Amino acid sequence: MFYAYYIFIYGFLFLFGAAIGSFLNVCIYRLPLEESLIKRASHCMSCGEKIRHRDLIPIVSWIFLRGKCHSCGAPISPRYMIVELLNAVLYVLTGMWFGVVEAPIHVMLICLLLSALIVVFFMDWDTQLINNAVVFFIFLLGVAEYFFSDYHLNELTLRNQIIGFFAVSVPLLLIVLLSKERAMGMGDALLMAAGGFFLGWKAALVALFFALISASVVGLFLKYRTGLSKFAFGPFLSLGIAISAFFGNELISAYLSLITVK
Ligand SMILES: [Zn+2]
Repeated sequence: MFYAYYIFIYGFLFLFGAAIGSFLNVCIYRLPLEESLIKRASHCMSCGEKIRHRDLIPIVSWIFLRGKCHSCGAPISPRYMIVELLNAVLYVLTGMWFGVVEAPIHVMLICLLLSALIVVFFMDWDTQLINNAVVFFIFLLGVAEYFFSDYHLNELTLRNQIIGFFAVSVPLLLIVLLSKERAMGMGDALLMAAGGFFLGWKAALVALFFALISASVVGLFLKYRTGLSKFAFGPFLSLGIAISAFFGNELISAYLSLITVK
């Protein structure tokens, strides 16, 4: 009985995550085009044919169609399936890490945060633009986290969150202004303001740390392989915020105990 209960909960989280992942695909492709998210039914990018209901099942449909449009046979990017699968897996991991039963509200807020970060990640990678509405959504999640978080290890205070809002975003803002948006965009600073407000300042610093490390590694790789030296920073900030949402406070505590205990 006990196991059946957990299989049910995580099964539900997976399916729910896949369904939301499907919506994230719509956001990633339509937000940059300023198309309505709900008005037009999903359609093939090549022939414009409306996608049949039975081909709209997350993950499964892409596999059954073998990555091709039913109507014209044009290849459908595996990224649709990857986004759905990624979101589904992250929902399950979030539930396991924080405890669905112990901290349901915190789990829900982190799940929504990760979904928003997935949108920022892929949209910024494609277009080098970070959508303000998505960033504002992350900020609202931070407000909800302050009022409703039920996670016992959360030492978030309003002061902690407000410092988090400025701790990373202000230095980034200075870089944006000094480099005249060449090194970084305004969207990056705003993303770290919203993310920092959600995480609190300690975890915000951890997020920046991971963003810088991952951006350096990928940047070096891209420069070496393709000669490309300009790429979006937002995906790495998103990655940093996501990692920090899970481990940020633990890493800071471990680091502090390392340097204070002799
Ligand atoms: Zn087609």
